[in-house]
Amino acid sequence: METRRLGAHVSVAGSLLRATEEATRIGANTIQIFSSSPRMWKASKLDPHDVKSFRTAREKLDIRPMAIHCSYLINLAAAEDEIFLKSAVGMRGEIERAIQLDADYLVAHPGSCKGQCAEDAIQRLTIGMRESGRGLKSARLKFLWEITAGQGQALGSDIGQLKEIAARTAEVLDIPVGYCVDTAHCFAAGLDLFDVLRELGQENVPVIHTNDSKAPFGSRVDRHEHIGKGYIGKEAFRRYLTHPDLRDKAFILETPENDDGDHAQNLSTLKQLCRKSRTTLTKSSSGG
Ligand SMILES: [Zn+2]
Ligand SMILES: [Zn+2]
Repeated sequence: METRRLGAHVSVAGSLLRATEEATRIGANTIQIFSSSPRMWKASKLDPHDVKSFRTAREKLDIRPMAIHCSYLINLAAAEDEIFLKSAVGMRGEIERAIQLDADYLVAHPGSCKGQCAEDAIQRLTIGMRESGRGLKSARLKFLWEITAGQGQALGSDIGQLKEIAARTAEVLDIPVGYCVDTAHCFAAGLDLFDVLRELGQENVPVIHTNDSKAPFGSRVDRHEHIGKGYIGKEAFRRYLTHPDLRDKAFILETPENDDGDHAQNLSTLKQLCRKSRTTLTKSSSGG
C-alpha cells in the first residue's frame, strides 16, 4: 500500500464525486478542494446524497487526508465593517461545510491588513474567528493557517506573526489549530522551508502545498509554477520529499492547470523525486 501522501487541488465543479474521479485519473491519494466557489460570497448548499457518495468514494479509494481551502474573498483582518461581516459569515460556512464533509483540514490565509496596523488587524482577525467558530466542534477537523508570500499587505509571511495569529486563534476556537506551509510562498517570502518547519514545529504542519515559483527568492510575489520549471527547482523538491521528517506529510500540488495532463505530469515528477536520490544514481553510473 502506498504510504506517501501525494496529491493536488482538484475541482468539484458539478459534483463532489468529480474530485475523487480526478484524483484517480491523475494518480493522487490526497486532495484539496474548494467546498464552494472561491470567488463568490454566496455559498452553495451541499447535497447530502453527494456528501455521502463523496465520503464512500474517498474511503474506498483510500484518499486521505482531504483538505479544504477557504475562499479567497474571506478577509477577517479587514478594516471595513462590510468586508469583515461578510467574511465572518463566509468563514462560518467554511467551517460548517468542512465538518459536514469530514475534512481533515481547513486551510485559510490570514488576510490583509490594508489601512490599519498589523496589531489591529490581528485583533480583528481573532474576534472574527471567535464569532465564526462559535459553537462549532469536530473530533476530526484541524484548522490550518497558511504561510503567505507577503504580497501587498498580506498577513502571515512572517513566522513570528503567523505563530501569534495561530496562538490567538487557538484561544477562541474549539477546533485544533496548526499550519499549512506552501513551498512557493516560503520561497517568495525569502524563507528556507526547513527553517520554517523548525520554527513552526514540524509536527504542527500536516500539509505542504507543493509548488514551484515563477517569482524569485524574496520577491514577495505569489505565482505558482510547475515542479522543476521555476526558481525553486527539482533538486530542492527532492530534498523535501526524501527528508525523513517529512515522510508522513501530505504534499498537495497547486500548480497551474493549463491542460488536462498538467496535474498528472507534476505528480509523476513528485513520485520520481521520492524514489531515488541523485547521488545514488551518480554512484551506480560511475560503477563505484
Ligand atoms: Zn492558499
Ligand atoms: Zn498554497
